[in-house]
Amino acid sequence: MTFLEKQTNPLDPVHYRGNLQVDNLYTSGAAGDRFFKHLMENDTFLASECKECGTVFFPPRLYCEDCFVEIPEENWFEVPAAGTVRLFTRAKLNTYGEKLEEPKIIALIDIEDTDGAHLGVIKSDEPDKDFMGKKVEAVLRPKKDREGTIKDILYFQVL
Ligand SMILES: [Zn+2]
Repeated sequence: MTFLEKQTNPLDPVHYRGNLQVDNLYTSGAAGDRFFKHLMENDTFLASECKECGTVFFPPRLYCEDCFVEIPEENWFEVPAAGTVRLFTRAKLNTYGEKLEEPKIIALIDIEDTDGAHLGVIKSDEPDKDFMGKKVEAVLRPKKDREGTIKDILYFQVL
């Protein structure tokens, strides 16, 4: 389908190759801002705990959506930039369907001491191994190069 063809069935998937201008601005919000500012100066993550239900949020949140209560700053704390692989997949093609030189290992990582998880990339000298349940740690940009974005987390490596 090209831009000039009319889509007749709204349930049909549409796929365009090329560049589309998309004007938007993503902000990480007040909680994300605090998280990334902390990450610029430290090698740990931040989490926040709801004292009503005990949920430890990662990424940290300002409010508990279950208890409808604010999580004050004193309930924020550092946690290791590490966790356990809950699940993973090996991507062998890029988003254009082209074969990658090396498989990309994408994992859902349960962050230590929290009830949250992070979707990250694992780099390993043994990309064909089973990563389920493996302990991993974040490899961060050198502090001088950090920008306060998610890109400060370069990848995860197996401990
Ligand atoms: Zn709660």
